[in-house]
Amino acid sequence: MIKTNVFCRVVSLYGVFFVSIIYAVMEKDAKIYVAGHRGLVGSAIVRNLIAAGYTNIVGKTSAELDLRNQQAVKEFFDNEQPDYVFLAAAKVGGIHANNTYPAEFIHDNLAIQTNVIHQAYLHDVKKLVFLGSSCIYPRACPQPIKEEYLLTSALEKTNEAYAVAKIAGLKMCEFYNKQYGTSFIAAMPTNLYGPNDNFNVETSHVIPALLVKIYNAYKNNSPTCEVWGTGNPRREFLHVDDLARAVVLLMNEYDQESIVNIGSGTDLTIRELVMLIKDLIGYQGEIVWKSSQPDGTPRKLLNIDLLTSMGWQPEIALTDGLQETIAWCHQNGIFN
Ligand code: GDP
Repeated sequence: MIKTNVFCRVVSLYGVFFVSIIYAVMEKDAKIYVAGHRGLVGSAIVRNLIAAGYTNIVGKTSAELDLRNQQAVKEFFDNEQPDYVFLAAAKVGGIHANNTYPAEFIHDNLAIQTNVIHQAYLHDVKKLVFLGSSCIYPRACPQPIKEEYLLTSALEKTNEAYAVAKIAGLKMCEFYNKQYGTSFIAAMPTNLYGPNDNFNVETSHVIPALLVKIYNAYKNNSPTCEVWGTGNPRREFLHVDDLARAVVLLMNEYDQESIVNIGSGTDLTIRELVMLIKDLIGYQGEIVWKSSQPDGTPRKLLNIDLLTSMGWQPEIALTDGLQETIAWCHQNGIFN
């Protein structure tokens, strides 16, 4: 039986003060299911939990447990009975993958999150953190993007399928809390990078794609290296270890209704990112912009005031995080 720690705070209602219990802190021996534990986000959450002394972490590969399969997910929850769930399993990809396989992006993500969230409710999971994405916000959002801008205008077309699925997931958490009294919260990370990312240049996000393309051009002494779009869009990037720190903090300390943005608070153009990676790798050739590939949304910088008000700050600067990721790529056979 897992014990739950609680903090108390004093709240005032009609001038009368009450002590209310607000936070359930995970016990170090609580059973914690990290869905997607081998991916970029899930593996970072596992690293963070292990470093913090959590001892009972459960994970299954997609070969062991297909989260799109309702019966398989039910049996997993029947057998494991987790206390806490980090829902970091999803079908993810960069702009080209999102734009090319929208049916798979909407189907797989709706199925995975529906199965896991519903079973978490049926099995009395104490708390669940659902991972979304900054692409859930409207394409033409005022910047930096506040949580309250959700569903105020149309989405960016290149990732609409993924965004609609993620919006359904965060709404599912909200409505389960409302009707069933569950404690399911939703975090919306900006563009992430770091170890265990997808480094397939056709389907990956921009940072892993640029690392591989520019490194290959450097290694092969290619006079040119082709990248996508115009370079004009702005993007915000966060190292996945900073993300994991935020997500574990939210699991332990956040119980409010609003979704929570997780970002670094600063952005740069794709052109500036390309030049930074070019410098870090030492590539001297020419960058060629393939403008037949889409730019995507012009800008998506998150407002992170809600998260920073809880004491969290990003700690890994982009240049340092990229250098670390380049070293990881060397050590893990990505650059060969
Ligand atoms: P997004 O942030 O959801 O749009 O997705 P990505 O992480 O795939 O970033 C896409 C942005 O980077 C777009 O403006 C692309 O045109 C640009 N980009 C430049 N080169 C590449 C590349 O090789 N791969 C990817 N995925 N994006 C690239």
